[in-house]
Order: sequence, then C-alpha cells, then structure tokens
Amino acid sequence: MSEEKSLNFIEEIVEEDLKNGKYKSIVTRFPPEPNGYLHIGHAKSICLNFGLAKKYGGKTNLRFDDTNPVTEETEYVESIKDDVRWLGFEWANEFYASDYFEQLYAFAVTLIKKGLAYVDDSTSEEIAEQKGTPTVPGTRNRYADRSIEDNLQLFADMRAGKYADGSKVLRARIDMASPNMLLRDPILYRIKHAHHHRTGDNWCIYPMYDFAHGQSDSIENITHSICTLEFIPHRDLYDWCIEKLEIFPSHQYEFARLNMTYTIMSKRKLLQLVNEGHVNGWDDPRMSTISGMRRRGYPAEAIREFCDRIGVAKRENLIDVGLLEFCVREHLNKIALRRMVVFDPLKLVITNYPEGEEYLQSENNPEDPNAGHRDVPFSRELYIEREDFMENPPKKYFRLAPGQMVRLKSAYIIRCEEVVKDAAGNITEVKCTYIPESKSGSDTSGINVKGTLHWVSVQHAVTAEVRLYDRLFKVEDVANAEGDFKDHINEDSLTVLANAYAEPALLNDTPDDRYQFIRKGYFCLDKDSSADKLVFNRTVTLKDGWAKEAKKA
Ligand code: ATP
Ligand code: MG
Repeated sequence: MSEEKSLNFIEEIVEEDLKNGKYKSIVTRFPPEPNGYLHIGHAKSICLNFGLAKKYGGKTNLRFDDTNPVTEETEYVESIKDDVRWLGFEWANEFYASDYFEQLYAFAVTLIKKGLAYVDDSTSEEIAEQKGTPTVPGTRNRYADRSIEDNLQLFADMRAGKYADGSKVLRARIDMASPNMLLRDPILYRIKHAHHHRTGDNWCIYPMYDFAHGQSDSIENITHSICTLEFIPHRDLYDWCIEKLEIFPSHQYEFARLNMTYTIMSKRKLLQLVNEGHVNGWDDPRMSTISGMRRRGYPAEAIREFCDRIGVAKRENLIDVGLLEFCVREHLNKIALRRMVVFDPLKLVITNYPEGEEYLQSENNPEDPNAGHRDVPFSRELYIEREDFMENPPKKYFRLAPGQMVRLKSAYIIRCEEVVKDAAGNITEVKCTYIPESKSGSDTSGINVKGTLHWVSVQHAVTAEVRLYDRLFKVEDVANAEGDFKDHINEDSLTVLANAYAEPALLNDTPDDRYQFIRKGYFCLDKDSSADKLVFNRTVTLKDGWAKEAKKA
C-alpha cells in the first residue's frame, strides 16, 4: 500500500539524504516530556518517527525529555512506554535527557569559554523589558560584560547551590537585534531547587528546552529531528548551539500537529479534566489519550491506519474525528465477534415452543470465514429490545407489532399474537408463536419477513453493564472555541445501562476480544468487569450518527 502512495515531504528529505550519502542510515527519536499520558497527537508523532525508521531501515530512540523537575513523574514514564509498545513500536534505546545533565553542563562551560554565554543577575521582568519588541531591538545590560573567569565561577556557584531560585540565569550571547526574538540572548539555564524524579537533588540548575533538546539529539546522532510547527522559530537557536559547540549536526524538521474535532490535545488540559473529576482518570474511554482509546477498544491497527491516512502536512488543519472512528469501525468489522445483547429488555414468550432449550448455530463473523460459529441457546422465553416492539406501529414498520412477523436472528420467524400489560397499562410481555419450518439455515417456510431482531434467552441470559460514550465536547474546534474549554464539555457523554442481558458466549471470551453487538455497535470488555459482573464499553457505533445529525441540520 505504502509503495503506491506518494512520499510525504519528510520522506522526500530522507530519501534525498540517503541518496546523496549525507547519512548511511537514519536515526529518529520520539521525545515526550513525562508530564502526562500520551494522546492521539503523540500517536501521530510516534507513527511518523518510528514509521520513517522502519521504512528506511534506521532506528528510533525513545527519549524522555525530563529537564523540568517539577511536573514530571515516574508514573508517566511507565504509561508512555506502555502506550508506545501497545501502538506496535519498539525503540532502539531508552534515553533520558536528564542523563545528559553533566554533558549539557560541560557544553554550557564550553560556550562560556568561547565568550558565548554569560551569567545574568537581572530579574525576569528586567530581562523581558530589555528584550525589545519584534520591531525594536533589545539592549544588553552590564552583566553581559562579565569576564569569562567571572562567568565560569558564577556558573559553578549556581550549580553548587549558592543562589536562590530566579536570582541568576545563564544566557547565550547571540544578537539582541535579531528579528528572531529567540536569538536575543536566550536563557540556557535557570536555578530551580527542586527534586527531580531521576537525578534527585543532584542538580539545582536545569537547562531550558532550547539548551537540552538539540544537544540531546546531537549526543544521540539523531539525523532527522521531527517536531511540530511551533518550533520553527527555535530552529535558528537549535542550529546556533550545534554550530558553536561543534557537535553532531542533527537537523530539525517541522510538520503540522494533529488537531481533531471535538477533542482537546494538551496534556495540561487533559490533566485538568482528570484532576477536576470531569472524567474517571487518564484512561477514561472518553479521553483522547492512547490509554483511553485502548480501554475504549480502539485497535492499535486502526490508530496507525488513521495516522497514515491523515498524512504529514506543513500547515495546521482540523481533522474530523469521524475519520478516526471510520478507521476503528473498518478494522473492527473485520475482526469483531458478533454477539447478541439486549439493552432495554422486553420479555417475549413463544407459546407454541416446547419447554427446554436448543442450541442454534450462529456465525461469529460473516466477514471472516475462519471465525467459526458459536451455539446460542434458544428457549420459550426471550428478551428482545423494547424499542423493537410497537403496539400501534406506523406504516412500513418492519419490527414486531401485533399480528406482524419478524425473524429472530439465527433462529425462527415469529408472529406477535398478544400484548400483556400491567394495571398501569405498561407493556410487560408479548406473546408470540413461532414457525418451526422457518429455522435459519434450513428455512422451508416460504415466508419472507423484512425485519430481523436480536434476542437473548431469559434463562441463559447474563446480566451486563453497558457503557455508552458520546463526544466529550459539544463544539467542533474546542481549542479555539470561546471561553474556557471546560465550558464546552458535553454533560451527557456517558450513559450507563446497568441491566442489559447478554448471550452466555460472552462469559467465555477473553478481555482482548472485540465484539459487534448485533444492531448495537462495537464493544469491548472493560477492566471494571468482575466474575459476577460483565462491563462493556461501546467502542464506536455501527454507523456515523453524527454525520447524519449534521446532514439533518
Ligand atoms: P502537549 O501540549 O499535549 O503537552 P507537547 O508537545 O508538549 O504536547 P511532548 O511530550 O513535548 O508534548 O511531545 C512529544 C512529541 O510529540 C513532540 O515531538 C511533539 O511535537 C509531539 N506532539 C505533541 N502533540 C502533538 C500533536 N497534536 N500532533 C503531532 N505531534 C505532537
Ligand atoms: Mg511539551
């Protein structure tokens, strides 16, 4: 498939670099900051970085960009590794930017010795003020004139813990008039007396992103350092550091980040949803996190297919979440086991069916000849879906109604003979008769019916909880919608049906099985299931209900 597809712009660059011998093989990296769980945007970056290395016989490092001690946790490191593996990728090396702290410190000393970095005692307000504006050049202060010896001493003292947070920074000496504001003597190091999840209390100075990322790439001989568009202005500084330090020339390339309708993709905002209880944890099936999507039943193959289909763009756009759901549906249709589950039961009694039961063969998946059959118990008393019966139906109603016939899936044709009601007039039961010659697979009845209903035998039914999910946000472009993003939360994004009835085959299936509950959608078993209670998540509906809504509107 990928052979016929035209190359994306990064593949073109890589092929060119390999062809003209710039590199013998490529090295990419996926560099998450371990300050939250990965989301579908990260999946895009993972597929791109690992995918390139795979395609061109190179390798990919997993590098934790853990230079900020305050927000990072080991829990996040573990979840990130889990998610990358689950997506189907294996890294060549597991690295931590914090392992380079000593090397980065040495790089900073090199810059100081070259007269290219100085210690500045100004407050952050003063530094901001002296920076100028895009049209007005900035100015240097007196600290910029410190001698190399003084700078070396002060920087050593910063490291030794002699100064308070915020009292000094190390800055690169570049160009206070540069049109690129990031080149106006950018901060390289700041003082932060904070405990780091890996280096403990060894350090009280930490490198800034711009003095860690490119250098880490270079230390690892990364050939193609791929990041999102907002890092374009950082590229000059990335190149400046590599040039001045005379280290391996990694190169940065930028692509458009993934934005998706009805979805937020910012770890900071996702953390808010978790902390404020709008969802039940990072792996809540409504979350755009990889762990949420996994729990919801999205197959890794579908996520990879989605990332492939959206391609690699140079301009930001907003991808329809419907495309991701389409990929999920398409994959599940091929692999999901068909099962019958009744969500809102109405009892149906077949008055001419004998006591006892029989087992009817039903296909596990009509799309997959190798999926085999299962035996579904059938008996006199069944549950059908309440919405599949109407006492006074409109014309062209092909489900069950008094005097009308339908087929029960994989079973018989039945006719509704009588409606039973309680004192309040609620329908409590429908009585039917069945046509013995109409058995699926050996139907000699000659009767044609238009409707087929799913059902579950009452005495064999297994009680299940079914969780239906809808979009977590009500607006398409959440990131750019007016007001706080939380104003747009869809309060009805979770519906719990506590008393659904499932056919007993569901008791024997494994947690990794994916299901199509016939006429209901695609489902998977949730981790909240126990021996005496099955819990299912709706992964995705059978059809795109939102597309229909949009057409109606
Ligand atoms: P967030 O704002 O969600 O925290 P981030 O970019 O700060 O995202 P990092 O952990 O720094 O998160 O990102 C790791 C890698 O994933 C980076 O290379 C980043 O460019 C990439 N990435 C993050 N979000 C997206 C996205 N929406 N689309 C594509 N790539 C992304
Ligand atoms: Mg980040």
